[in-house]
Amino acid sequence: MSGSGADFTTQRVRDLLFYTIPRFARAGGVVAVFSTRRGGRSSEVYATLNLGLHVGDDPETVLTNRALFCGALGLDHRHLVSCAQVHGTTVAVVGAGDRGRGAFDPAQAVPGADGLATDTPGVPLISFYGDCVPLFLYDPVKRAIALVHAGWRGTLGRIGSRALAVLRKSFGSSPAEVLAAVGPAIGPCCYIVGSDLAAQFAWEFPGGDLVRRGADGAWRLDLWSINRRILIEAGVKSANIAVARRCTACAPGEFFSHRASRGKTGRMAAIMMLE
Ligand SMILES: [Zn+2]
Repeated sequence: MSGSGADFTTQRVRDLLFYTIPRFARAGGVVAVFSTRRGGRSSEVYATLNLGLHVGDDPETVLTNRALFCGALGLDHRHLVSCAQVHGTTVAVVGAGDRGRGAFDPAQAVPGADGLATDTPGVPLISFYGDCVPLFLYDPVKRAIALVHAGWRGTLGRIGSRALAVLRKSFGSSPAEVLAAVGPAIGPCCYIVGSDLAAQFAWEFPGGDLVRRGADGAWRLDLWSINRRILIEAGVKSANIAVARRCTACAPGEFFSHRASRGKTGRMAAIMMLE
């Protein structure tokens, strides 16, 4: 928990509703947001602000949604840089020359990566979510950012720690100075997994009630707290980590959820950009 105020807060622009991170806003110099499904033009299972081009929605409508959302943030959707999100643990460094990769065609996204890092202002990073955990890292001292997609595989592979290592190696960031945020994602209330996976997580992340067996006998993972612990073990101060604690599977009016919709749904997006 952060020292003062909410870890995440919602903001409205016209019909758009999205999450911002007060701690990042106080530090200044960065855009860091997480969308909801509200305020776009898509219909049916993609209603309304589907931002994913790869899930079967009409591409023109998705681009309109991206233009609407980015416009509200004061940035150009044609500059968005995305990565392939292959459920790995690679964090790629990008710069001005990468602007626009994946902005119109997912095949042009940075291949083989689940995280992007940059120290270049004006390069908007984007990644897409339908239950997985978005991790936001901001070093206000060295002026560098990383945006990371952590599903269960990425979490088990400690991709948050890998992103911090990339920030240190590429930009000289000290983890003690990094501000971090764990965005909306499927919570311990809803994230039921098999006993084999639960055992793997219990082995990797012992104690602290991060893997629980409910009264119904089902195993549940707390990916929010596991990612928070990974960041703390990698040197981020606990006071510098915001956790949204918003479950994407519990609020179908607000979020797309892969789990809750049994697969056919839209995608929210996390966007980060140095100003
Ligand atoms: Zn839930």
